Amino acid sequence: MWNCRCTLVASIPGHDAFGERNASKLETSHEDWKAGRDPKRPKPSGRSLREFVETPATERAAQRAGVSKTRVRKAIADELRRQGRTGRDFPSMSRAEQQSLLRDVMEREQHFKTAAARRDAERMAVVDMGKVGGKPYRKNVEEVFGKDMAPLAHEDVKRMLGHRSGTLYEGIYAYDLDSGVRIGSETSQTATFSASIVKKPSSSIEEARGAGHHVVIMHNHPGSSMPSLEDIRRVRNGGASFGVIACHDGSIIKFSIANQPIGGYTLDKATMDRFGGLYKDDEKGLFAALEACPGVRVERFA
Ligand SMILES: [Zn+2]
Repeated sequence: MWNCRCTLVASIPGHDAFGERNASKLETSHEDWKAGRDPKRPKPSGRSLREFVETPATERAAQRAGVSKTRVRKAIADELRRQGRTGRDFPSMSRAEQQSLLRDVMEREQHFKTAAARRDAERMAVVDMGKVGGKPYRKNVEEVFGKDMAPLAHEDVKRMLGHRSGTLYEGIYAYDLDSGVRIGSETSQTATFSASIVKKPSSSIEEARGAGHHVVIMHNHPGSSMPSLEDIRRVRNGGASFGVIACHDGSIIKFSIANQPIGGYTLDKATMDRFGGLYKDDEKGLFAALEACPGVRVERFA
C-alpha cells in the first residue's frame, strides 16, 4: 500500500479559514498551524538540499535503494513542490524533518523502482465502471453529497474514474453545495498519486466561501487509501465542509474536521503515522481513533 501525497491547496487570500483556531487562543501561530508545524519544534537545520544530499546518511540511503544522489535530490525537490514548498525552504526544516522527508521519498522510489512494480499498481487501479454506474453506488453518492448534489456529483465521479482508471493519477473537483453547482476542476495533472488545486478553482472556492456557501472538494485515490494528511489539511485550510475521495476499488470516502484536537494531539504527520501503525489492519478502529483524538471524521462507504 502507498500513501496519497496530494499537494496542499493554494492559500486562499481574503478568506480567513483560521478564525476559529485563532480565537481558540492556542499558542500555535497562524503560519505554524497552517503548515502543521509544532511551535515548540526543534531548530532549523540550516542544511541546504545540496549539502544534505552529500551527507553519508543520505548516500547510504541512496545506495540501499539503488538510486543515484542526483535522483534523490530531484525526488526531494519534487516532494517539496508537491507540498507547496521549494528547495529554498529546505534549510529551515529541522534535521528530523529533513530525515523524515528523505525516508518518505525513498519509500516512494522503492515502490516504483521497476516498471513491473508500476504496472502492478496500475493494474490494481483499474476501476469496475459497472459498479460505479450501479444503483448501490449511486445510493452511496447520495449519502455522501446529499440528494440535491448527488446527480451531478455522480456524473463527475463516473467521468473522473473512467478517465483515471488504470492510472496512478488523480483529478480534483470542487462543488458549491448551496448553489448545487461545480465550481472548479483539475483533470489534466500527471504526477503519481498527487493532485493539487491550482489558481482558478482555488479562487472559485474562495468566492463561494466568501458568500457563506458550503464547499466540498472531491478527488480520486488510485490506491483506494484513506485521506492523506495533505488531503485533510486541504479541506481544513480551504474551509471546505468536507472532502470526498472516490476510490478506484469502488468505495467512496467522506471526511471532515469534526472537532478540535483533544489535549496533546495535533494534526501532524507523527500523529497520522502513529495511529496508522497502531491500527494497521483495523480501518474502523483507525477512523474511531482519528475522530476521538485529532478530531478528524472519516467514513468509508463500500
Ligand atoms: Zn488524496
